Amino acid sequence: MVSRVVFGRGSFNQLGDIIAPKRQNIKAPFIFLVDDVFKGNSWLTSRIPIAYNDQLLYISADEEPKTSQVDELVEQIILSHKDRPSGIIGIGGGTILDLAKAVSILLTNKGEAKNYQGWDLVKSPAIYHVGIPTISGTGAEVSRTTVLTGPQKKLGINSDHTPFDQVILDPELAKDVPKEQWFYTGMDCYIHCIESLNGTYLNAFSQSYGEKAYQLCLEIFTEDNLSVEDSQDKLMMASWHGGMSIAYSQVGVAHAMSYGLSYLLGTKHGIGNCVVFDHLEEFYPDGVKLFKQMKQKHNIELPQGLCSNLGDDEFDIMIDVALSLEPLWINAVGKNWKQIITRDKLKSLYQKM
Ligand code: NAD
Ligand code: ZN
Repeated sequence: MVSRVVFGRGSFNQLGDIIAPKRQNIKAPFIFLVDDVFKGNSWLTSRIPIAYNDQLLYISADEEPKTSQVDELVEQIILSHKDRPSGIIGIGGGTILDLAKAVSILLTNKGEAKNYQGWDLVKSPAIYHVGIPTISGTGAEVSRTTVLTGPQKKLGINSDHTPFDQVILDPELAKDVPKEQWFYTGMDCYIHCIESLNGTYLNAFSQSYGEKAYQLCLEIFTEDNLSVEDSQDKLMMASWHGGMSIAYSQVGVAHAMSYGLSYLLGTKHGIGNCVVFDHLEEFYPDGVKLFKQMKQKHNIELPQGLCSNLGDDEFDIMIDVALSLEPLWINAVGKNWKQIITRDKLKSLYQKM
């Protein structure tokens, strides 16, 4: 679990005080990985407490993180500074938070990021790392994984060294998120709840967090009387609880199939989950019904025909990626999932998207 967290509008201003005691010496910098959407946005960047040899790197979130990108960032940091950094601070959405987690791990663990994709392969503790979400929903701020696309697979570095040492939850940072993106990333949280609460892995720990996150999502996405601030505050906490819920259970069909879309077509996580979930009535009837209502209420048009021009080889790639995620299928369908989830079944679902 994340060891320290602060919450509150304006809490971003505490960043300098929070990290100061963690500075190893004046030559050991803090490296700030910041979503490049904030380039030129002095409202946020003027409050980043840069001192001594600290470095700010703007990173695009247009594409999801790759293992090669992690390796390049680690090399860049090592070559630019004689001393090992005092810490890595990620400021952005799931893309930047995952990069910050992965870079902090690879600074203390030899070799390439792709070697650590899997479960509990990280041997040495990461360097001090801080996560500051600027958009809510993925739960990446709280989870024990960092999802990376590697040469062979899209898979997380799941380990006890992955979670942030410190998280700052300042809902005000999400004030300029575009509406569509707000919906897609918010729905990632909603889908985490549905998949966790309807899964065979469910237990009291996951249920307690999943139910709370689900209830918050209902307030945010179905009610009319929430203020903008309330809605931002609640979505930030829904994301946290949704992340905690899947930490002790698993996600399900939407995530497995969305990983296939992402691997082949580069479809981003939030929107990919929405595209898939829209067609999953047979697995999650109530969840999908409500999803369609929320989509309509917020005038969201999902992209259509993503798979309409794909050949058999391409369907096979997506199906292979989806089927490789065995725990997700066991959670979603049960131990006999292979009898139900055939290649033909997945192909016919992908063909609808
Ligand atoms: P994102 O980080 O990809 O960002 C989406 C878009 O929103 C980008 O264009 C970004 O620039 C923009 N944005 C972010 N904050 C903004 C702000 N305050 N104002 C204006 N624009 C802003 O989005 P995401 O949905 O948070 O993250 C998706 C990533 O998270 C994927 O790579 C996915 O694999 C990963 N993920 C990780 C976990 C985990 O547990 N580690 C869980 C779910 C998803
Ligand atoms: Zn997700």
